[in-house]
Amino acid sequence: MTIDTQFDANHLWHPYTSTINPLPCQGVKAAKGVRLTLDDDREVIDAMASWWSVVHGHNVPELNTALIDQAQTMAHVMFGGITHEPAVALGKQLVNMTPEPLQKVFLADSGSVSVEVALKMAIQYWAGKQQPQKTRMVTVNHGYHGDTFGAMSVCDPVNGMHSLFEQVLPKSLFLGALPTGYSTDIDETLAQQFEQQIADHQHELAAFIIEPVVQGAGGMRIYNPEWLKRIRQWCDRYNILLIFDEIATGFGRTGKLFALEHAEVVPDILCLGKALSGGYMTLAATLTSDAVATGVCESDAGVFMHGPTFMGNPLACAVASRSLALLVETHWSENVYRIERHLKTQLLPLIRHQAVKDVRVLGAIGVMEMQAPVDVATAQNFFIERGVWIRPFGKLIYIMPPFVTDNDDLTVITQAMRDFAEMKSA
Ligand SMILES: *Cc1c(COP(=O)(O)O)cnc(C)c1O
Repeated sequence: MTIDTQFDANHLWHPYTSTINPLPCQGVKAAKGVRLTLDDDREVIDAMASWWSVVHGHNVPELNTALIDQAQTMAHVMFGGITHEPAVALGKQLVNMTPEPLQKVFLADSGSVSVEVALKMAIQYWAGKQQPQKTRMVTVNHGYHGDTFGAMSVCDPVNGMHSLFEQVLPKSLFLGALPTGYSTDIDETLAQQFEQQIADHQHELAAFIIEPVVQGAGGMRIYNPEWLKRIRQWCDRYNILLIFDEIATGFGRTGKLFALEHAEVVPDILCLGKALSGGYMTLAATLTSDAVATGVCESDAGVFMHGPTFMGNPLACAVASRSLALLVETHWSENVYRIERHLKTQLLPLIRHQAVKDVRVLGAIGVMEMQAPVDVATAQNFFIERGVWIRPFGKLIYIMPPFVTDNDDLTVITQAMRDFAEMKSA
């Protein structure tokens, strides 16, 4: 049986694609471990962990069992006025594994929704504090927070979709770009400029939103965690809530369980998603402190104004709950450090190639930035021929493999990237 890719091309949207000129799409018929089986029976290593999510790999017996058991018990029930064991169990795990002040959990159905929830919490909080004029968001450039309207309004103004939707997007305050490099010293002049802008706008600012340490889809940029300490200080000084978007970085990806641990900074609101369910189901969560939750509920509405139909979906909660336990059972941190060492040894030397502009590694994330934009379709095929699934964007060839990827498979991935660098430099 082959997949009807012609029907697909004629009728189905894919992420960021044109129906007039659809990108070639690869049929995948099965996935197991770190491998995808293509329609023509070739196998490729999923070096993207299917967009940060399948940290345990695909078709994981423990997760399959959790999902099937839950399906046979109760697949779904509304969360309005009803609760259930999978939600309670997951809530306990999330409260326990995140910093102590984060005590209240809102289960959302996707990362973008969890960001909308965070932004709405911040606005309702200030309404509850009798400061209804504090509704504007502040952030840095090159961020990515999702594709819904609130989320778009805090995405990078150039990479994001601001020009297209300018007339309808809320105007967030963009401070500028953080210098890249985990160990790059803080630029004090820049820090002062950032602080001044925040001070000037404090009366209208509700929250500062940022991806801690690694900015993902906005450019795969890694910055000094020290910036997060500064940002925490500014937020305290000027009465602004701090939102960390750990949808990409959460659950071990950067070498810490949460990227905020690199700076030991605790936000007022934390967004989680992607790897939360081990990549099985769409699920996200927004956590906040008792103080913020109380402020939210003191606003005129008296309640937090959000409630998705599939909130707390039992299948998603059950599989997420099992996935979080599995992280511990499989010693995620040993695996992530092993991957980091491998990527540092194999990828960092690629900087010597002419066509390569920069190489960076943190935890189980490897980025090779090329001098010129990469043609997605040709690069995709180049990597498939070498047994690897990598989907570049812009100038970036980047990987975030499942934590269970063994050293032999890591070598296949990094050699394919080396071949690509050599081919482009030839
Ligand atoms: C992917 C991502 C989102 C959006 O999540 P979706 O589940 O795609 O809506 C938000 N923030 C960050 C940092 C992300 O990586």
